[in-house]
Amino acid sequence: MKPSPLTYHRPRSIDEACEILARVAPEGKVLAGGQSLIPLLSMRLAAPAHLVDIGSIPRFDTVSASSELGVTFDALTTHADLEAHAGAAQVQPLLGRALRLVAHPTIRNRGTTVGSIVHADPSAEMPAVLALLGGSVTVRSIRGARQIRAGELFAGPLESTLETDEIATSVTVPPARPGTGTAIDEIARRHGDYALVGVAAQVEVDDGAVVSARMTYISAGEFGRVVDLGDTLRGASAHDARDPLWQTAAEEARDSVETESDIHATARYRSQLVAALTGRVGFAAAQDAVRDATRVSAQTGGQR
Ligand SMILES: Cc1cc2nc3c(=O)[nH]c(=O)nc-3n(C[C@H](O)[C@H](O)[C@H](O)COP(=O)(O)OP(=O)(O)OC[C@H]3O[C@@H](n4cnc5c(N)ncnc54)[C@H](O)[C@@H]3O)c2cc1C
Repeated sequence: MKPSPLTYHRPRSIDEACEILARVAPEGKVLAGGQSLIPLLSMRLAAPAHLVDIGSIPRFDTVSASSELGVTFDALTTHADLEAHAGAAQVQPLLGRALRLVAHPTIRNRGTTVGSIVHADPSAEMPAVLALLGGSVTVRSIRGARQIRAGELFAGPLESTLETDEIATSVTVPPARPGTGTAIDEIARRHGDYALVGVAAQVEVDDGAVVSARMTYISAGEFGRVVDLGDTLRGASAHDARDPLWQTAAEEARDSVETESDIHATARYRSQLVAALTGRVGFAAAQDAVRDATRVSAQTGGQR
C-alpha cells in the first residue's frame, strides 16, 4: 500500500519546523528517521495531512557527554551514532548496551534514538532505558521550550505527553552513578526482532551485597513503570548467582509484572521470561557495579 495523500514539508531550521507544525497541528506529524513512521504511513495506520521532515535541519545530531551532566543527544542522532560515541559509552554504558539490541544495523543507521523514545513503543528498548535511568526530554514549539521528565513522558502505549505542535529536540540521561551497575537483556525470536520480553536493571552494590535494585520491562508490565526490587534483593550476593534472593526476586517479578498473549508468545511464556531475565539481568547489573567499584578503587589506590 501507499500512504494517503499528504503535504510534505522540509524545514531548514528548528524555528521553521515549529512554525509549520503550529500551522498544521493537529494534522501534522514529525518525520525523523522514518523507521517507524514510514511503515505506519504505508500501511495507512497513520494518515496525517502534513508531514514535517526534520531530517534536513543542520547541526541537529550532536552528542555531548559529561561525567557531571550525563549524555545529551539531539533529535537527529541515529541509534548507530549514539552507539558508537565513546564519551556516551563511558558516561552512561547502558545506552550502548541497549542500542546494540535495537533492530538491525541498517535500521540503526537511519532510526533516531529521540524518535524511538517519543514514539513510546512498549516493545522498544530505549523508552525502557530512559524510564530506568531518569533524565528528560527537551521539546520545542512556537510557545517556547520545556522539559519533560522521564517519569512524565509516557502516557500509554505509543502515546507520549508531547503536544501535537511540539518537537522533541534532545534527550538527556544522567551519568552512571559510582557503585551502581546496569545491564539489559532480552529474548527475541531472531536477533534484531522486537523483544518477546526484555529487562533493563540498575543495581547498587556495597561491599559485595545489593543495596538497591530497580528494573524496567520491555514488552511486559505497565509501560514506563519502574519496578523496585530493592526490599527483596537487599543483601543479595553480587558474586554468587546461586544466592536464593535472586530466585526470590525472579518469582516476585513473575507474579507482579503483568504479561499478555499475542501472536508471538503466550502470557504464561512471557511470565517465565520475566522471571528468568529478572534474575539474570539483575545479577549482571550487580556484577557491573562490582567491576565499577574495582575500577574506581584501582584508580584511587583504594581511597574512595
Ligand atoms: C524492521 C524493523 C525492526 C525494528 N526493530 C526495533 C527494535 O527491535 N527495537 C526498537 O526499539 N525499535 C525497532 N525498530 C524501530 C526503530 O528503532 C525506529 O528507528 C524508531 O522507533 C523510531 O525512530 P525514527 O527516527 O525512525 O522515527 P520516525 O519513524 O521518523 O518517527 C516515529 C514517531 O515518532 C515521532 N517523532 C520522531 N522524532 C520526533 C521528534 N524529534 N519530535 C517529535 N516527534 C517525533 C514521529 O512523528 C512518529 O510518530 C524497528 C524498525 C523496523 C523497520
